[in-house]
Amino acid sequence: MSDVMRPISIESLLDWVMKEYRKTGTIFGIRQFYKADKSKKISLFNEKMEVPFGPAAGPQTQLAQNIVAAYVSGARFFELKTVQVIDGEDTGIAKPCISARDEAYNSEWSTELRVPQAFEEYTKAWFVLKLLSREFDLGDPDGFIFNMSVGYDLEGILTPKIQKYIHDMQDVSKTPIWGECLQAARKYMEQFTRIDEEYLNEISPYVSRSITLSTLHGCPPDEIEKIATHFIKEQQLHTFIKCNPTLLGYDYAREMMNKLGFDYMEFDDHHFVEDLQFEEAVPMLKRLQNLADRLQRNFGVKITNTFPVDVGQNELPAEEMFMSGRALFPLSIAVAKKLSDAFSGKLQISYSGGADIFNIKDLFEAGIWPITVATTLLKPGGYQRIQQMSNVISSLEYPNYIQLELDKLTELVEKSKAQALYQKPIKLPISPKIKEKLPLLDCYTAPCRGTGGCPIDQDIPAYLRYVSEGKHLEALKVIVDKNPLPFITGTICAHPCQTKCTRQFYENSIDIRGVKLEAAENAYDELMATMEKPERKENAPKTAVVGGGPAGISAGYLLAREGYPVTVFEKGNDAGGVCSQIVPEFRISMESVQKDVDMAKFMGAEFKTGEAAPAIDSLKDAGYENIIYAIGAHKHNNLRLDKGEAINSLEFLSDLRVDPRHNVYGEDIVVIGGGNTAMDCARAAKRLPGVKNVSLVYRRDKRNMPADEEELLTTLDEDVTFRELLSPVSLENGYLTCEVMKLGKRDESGRQRPESTGQFVDIKASTVVSAIGEKVDDSYFNELGIQTDPRGRVLVDPDTLETNLEHVYVVGDAHRGPATIVEAIADATKACSSICEIHNKNYERANKNIDLQEPRSKRGILLTDEDPVSQAERCLECSTICESCVDVCPNRANVVINVNDRPQIMHIDRMCNECGNCETFCPYSSAPYKVKFTLFNNEEDFYNSTNQGFYVIDQATKTCLVRYKDKEQTVELNTTSNTDIADGIIDLMETVIDDYDFCLAN
Ligand SMILES: Cc1cc2nc3c(=O)[nH]c(=O)nc-3n(C[C@H](O)[C@H](O)[C@H](O)COP(=O)(O)OP(=O)(O)OC[C@H]3O[C@@H](n4cnc5c(N)ncnc54)[C@H](O)[C@@H]3O)c2cc1C
Ligand code: SF4
Ligand code: SF4
Ligand code: SF4
Repeated sequence: MSDVMRPISIESLLDWVMKEYRKTGTIFGIRQFYKADKSKKISLFNEKMEVPFGPAAGPQTQLAQNIVAAYVSGARFFELKTVQVIDGEDTGIAKPCISARDEAYNSEWSTELRVPQAFEEYTKAWFVLKLLSREFDLGDPDGFIFNMSVGYDLEGILTPKIQKYIHDMQDVSKTPIWGECLQAARKYMEQFTRIDEEYLNEISPYVSRSITLSTLHGCPPDEIEKIATHFIKEQQLHTFIKCNPTLLGYDYAREMMNKLGFDYMEFDDHHFVEDLQFEEAVPMLKRLQNLADRLQRNFGVKITNTFPVDVGQNELPAEEMFMSGRALFPLSIAVAKKLSDAFSGKLQISYSGGADIFNIKDLFEAGIWPITVATTLLKPGGYQRIQQMSNVISSLEYPNYIQLELDKLTELVEKSKAQALYQKPIKLPISPKIKEKLPLLDCYTAPCRGTGGCPIDQDIPAYLRYVSEGKHLEALKVIVDKNPLPFITGTICAHPCQTKCTRQFYENSIDIRGVKLEAAENAYDELMATMEKPERKENAPKTAVVGGGPAGISAGYLLAREGYPVTVFEKGNDAGGVCSQIVPEFRISMESVQKDVDMAKFMGAEFKTGEAAPAIDSLKDAGYENIIYAIGAHKHNNLRLDKGEAINSLEFLSDLRVDPRHNVYGEDIVVIGGGNTAMDCARAAKRLPGVKNVSLVYRRDKRNMPADEEELLTTLDEDVTFRELLSPVSLENGYLTCEVMKLGKRDESGRQRPESTGQFVDIKASTVVSAIGEKVDDSYFNELGIQTDPRGRVLVDPDTLETNLEHVYVVGDAHRGPATIVEAIADATKACSSICEIHNKNYERANKNIDLQEPRSKRGILLTDEDPVSQAERCLECSTICESCVDVCPNRANVVINVNDRPQIMHIDRMCNECGNCETFCPYSSAPYKVKFTLFNNEEDFYNSTNQGFYVIDQATKTCLVRYKDKEQTVELNTTSNTDIADGIIDLMETVIDDYDFCLAN
């Protein structure tokens, strides 16, 4: 593992492209090639391009292979990665340097190559694109444009190093690399079908005749003007000047970020004060535009640079980082509008800054082009996202003049302030990573099922696929294999699976819960009519389940399905627990709960309702050998008030469940708490007749409330008044007095602690409902002789949930404290598995699609509002194909190798700069660039790394230097036997040497 990239020679590049294409039909991992309409072009810089769209100066234009991947995906405008006088390792860029989970941050401010190396990369890329466009008929060989990006101050730009770069890029014909390109192409001539000597001789050596100036924050306006003048006058270059979002002023930027929920982003006003001011920018740009007009050069602005923010929460190992992606859009588009107004729409804008499939059409129709992107390409789908955007732009009419549509720009600015697309969710999302570590081989996995995802490991990809095919019965069979409560969970499951869903990086997570309900609603009757009753097992031990909530019903279902006799004792009149006694009916109907109960009854579980279960001894006397306690956690945490009393939330909800229209609580109901129970209380209170105000009081802010995002949003939608940062003190004379709190330092969990301010407010309150949590009734268990810990939690064997009393188990909320329905099912499954074998792994194989092409064809395609695609169809089938690390690597350093017909991921050391992006999107708690078996291209790199991997010393004898499980050894794959290296790894190395030798070259 080393962050130094070693560029690939032109000969090896050609070898790689041609061989990879022949072997797998891909080029640098890109599966779908974009074929441009050669008759449709747009002019810029006296050149033409088929689509005014491509990668921005950034990670996707650093190496030749990146540019090639972007081209075959559909890019036709390339803003090359910025070069400047400080280059290579002198840039001192600390790694990782990209963090792109949502809005992105980076600290890679210019190319990490030396300037001459960068020049060679761009030249090779240019040359290869000329060959590929022709060979694969992807478009007009003169249908794309390379645009230089140079920084950062006049002194640096005037150095011989940068001057030579700018000079040579305009005409590479006299440079050695050009000769090498031609020579390599001649060597490979026989492999081409459409390229001949004549074509080679016609390839234009004029790589770039345009430049985008990037200046450092704080660069004085006269210096910017001098540099631009130098480009236009001395270098005769078409010139764009990159503008910063700081042109908007600090107040605008801060207010906008706060309004859109990015209030946690830390930045002060120093860049805003030191950077170019809008009032200076306009006359300067006008002077430059006039100069360019006189000299017949194109002139415009690039909007915008990334936005400098402080490293607030260890996002990257840097002092300052640069924000991009969806949070940048509202700022960049506002800069575009402000400048366009000042120029009556006559100033050309080259745009990046949060451009993506969701706004690219609007941008282009507002007269903005060319458009470049970087952040969207860092997400799963990667370069393959380009094709969709190129299709959109190329379907629109191309203008032949510059005129920004000011009204449309205004609309875009307004949209950016209002659309959910640009807003951070109220609650900061939890990590999408599962707890498991990345395996060396066979890593594809559906994270929705992993640890931290679905606690009962449901076969989600399998049932989503069945639903997408309209096979609801098959889907429901898959669901009930592991989940005895399809209706309850289909309606109100806390759906932790959705927090891990890979689709969140496309648009948003799949509504997995909703698809489950769809299957249940469509196929329940058929399932009940066709299911076979299990046979009763002779002499099987009897089990008593105490409590008929989600945990109890599940235990009854699972044991009965195995043919074991089981009785569920429920003291309430109906089974269902919290779901039938407390959760309001507007969230889950009794009918839904009953359907799940009926399924357990169908299996043979007996339900005894209406009285508490007999004591342990009586149960034993009645022949019950196993007893499972599933009594929930109903002991109320009391709210301490100096004066007055609050009522108990669970009693409040259960009373309303019985009679939701009977108001004995008055007009002004105040609910204390920020969890799901508090939300239910507030929503139920809101529906009571005669209620005027319902307030929710919490000592932190909304972002720090424990309730789920969905519950928060629904409660907000129902006009409950959120009174954040208040701590209740006393209730007197119809008023609740609260102390005003402020958020202070973060605790170990990262949440900011509420701190007193000494200020108080009064809230009108006819009733105060306390929803500050429940706990397990430990005294109940202690009386039974079941041990609990000092915090009142039952002591159990974690593998079986058996207590200190033999064959006595505790499950669900009674075991965990207030938890979730699906965790109650998980507990029931665990305890039942200790009583007998539970056969619930019948559909593992169905999670994999035998057709690999189907999930692969979905990668990189985002769904917009116009796409009529169902939730089930959106599933990417990650257990069949993951490859996120391949998609998101800008440098193509993770590759798929087909070993014995199974796709495996191999990491290529020389192409990786340790940007860290693959770690962000790999579903495991690991970094592919550190963990995956790594190919090294020389011995030095091998020893500079600690990755497990190999260096091929001799291809003919298949002699490799291998590091496997910390042991380094030289292995001759053909002859050495009895190595301690896993067969799968030996096979991988052999396959690389036999079939993927193009990866081995220098
Ligand atoms: C207001 C509220 C809203 C919630 N919303 C959600 C949600 O949207 N999604 C989600 O996943 N989770 C939600 N939860 C949590 C979820 O309801 C619980 O995690 C789940 O119900 C736990 O199931 P359980 O079977 O362990 O306990 P319970 O549902 O509490 O069931 C225990 C049952 O045992 C019975 N019982 C107790 N003692 C005895 C006895 N001695 N003899 C016989 N019967 C007895 C009780 O009457 C009760 O029916 C919510 C909880 C509350 C309070
Ligand atoms: S896309 Fe499908 S398989 Fe992948 S995590 Fe989401 S639901 Fe699971
Ligand atoms: S392999 Fe990972 S860390 Fe390396 S360059 Fe690619 S994305 Fe970055
Ligand atoms: S991101 Fe790559 S390494 Fe991680 S699971 Fe997916 S394919 Fe495997």
